[in-house]
Amino acid sequence: MKFLVCTETRSGKIEAISLEMLAAARTIAAPGDEVVALVVGDSATDAAARLGAADRVIAAIAPALSVPTAEAYARIARDVMATEAPDLIVMPYSATGLDVAPELAARCELPIVAYVVRLDRGDDGVAATSQIYGGKVMAKTRITGPAIAMLNPGSFPEAAASQVAAGALASLDPTPLLSNLRVELLGEDQPDLAEIDIATAERIVCVGRGIGDEGSIEIARELAGLLGAEIAGSRPVVDNGWLPKLRQVGKSGRKVKPRLYLALGVSGAPEHLEGMSRSDLIIAVNTDPKAPIFGVAHYGATCDLFDLVAALNDRLRAPAGS
Ligand SMILES: Cc1cc2nc3c(=O)[nH]c(=O)nc-3n(C[C@H](O)[C@H](O)[C@H](O)COP(=O)(O)OP(=O)(O)OC[C@H]3O[C@@H](n4cnc5c(N)ncnc54)[C@H](O)[C@@H]3O)c2cc1C
Repeated sequence: MKFLVCTETRSGKIEAISLEMLAAARTIAAPGDEVVALVVGDSATDAAARLGAADRVIAAIAPALSVPTAEAYARIARDVMATEAPDLIVMPYSATGLDVAPELAARCELPIVAYVVRLDRGDDGVAATSQIYGGKVMAKTRITGPAIAMLNPGSFPEAAASQVAAGALASLDPTPLLSNLRVELLGEDQPDLAEIDIATAERIVCVGRGIGDEGSIEIARELAGLLGAEIAGSRPVVDNGWLPKLRQVGKSGRKVKPRLYLALGVSGAPEHLEGMSRSDLIIAVNTDPKAPIFGVAHYGATCDLFDLVAALNDRLRAPAGS
């Protein structure tokens, strides 16, 4: 089998999901198989050379690809697919992947298996396990022909970043593929992280929809203060306007890796886990014992968050030794 791993880069650096996808492909690659990595960017040549987990790396580097549009990435990937004829195209279930994979699937008539959290190799193809319905259901599929597998970020360990073997890094001049693009990226408005950047916080108390309403966040805010932690929220909490966008954890929020992540009333949907599953210590409080957050938590409590937080606040407020 030949695997084509479509990596993601940002400002010349390889995103963690790229190393996770390489590790996933490597795990199921049998002797004689080939894992090929595609790198698309404007300054990622050095980073591409660190993808030694791949047997070969194809780097499409051009100034116009600082943040490749889905249209540009898809054109380059299609060109590579035409010459490489991969059996499995591995893509991230990320904002970019969500834009690029459907276009590739439609134009190349390939099926997509999304939300993949596990890949196994059998005699009759590749078995994929997908975490669907917000993580409540695990769906198993068998992939026997050319297909696209979209991997959930944070679901596979990262491959080590090692030097690509001599002669295994090839350049692809993307310029001819980038003519007459219909979409041009004019710029990106980055959030002002000067005030608060939860991505660098050592401790985070994160509230999910289980907190109920904006006023109830106060009890979690007090706990955060007592723990010296930053308060953060899941997407519904931010969408409801209960916390500012800068405090959202997840796929469309910030990716965090604190020493302590306390999740209060968070179900643990894949889009949330993407932003926090690499935290050193995860403690989850959720009334539902089947909540997927317990799948990544090191410790968990299946009780009402308000009871637990009130008790914790009382204990932490009490003078030392009392
Ligand atoms: C493209 C895309 C991007 C997304 N990006 C993000 C993102 O960046 N971040 C993000 O978080 N989500 C994101 N989502 C949304 C995600 O799919 C989930 O809908 C969301 O994470 C659910 O948030 P939640 O866990 O707070 O709410 P819910 O799923 O409603 O979970 C609430 C939990 O609280 C528990 N609970 C209720 N009351 C209590 C109580 N009193 N005590 C204890 N537990 C209680 C319940 O058992 C439940 O498990 C995205 C979705 C899409 C499609």
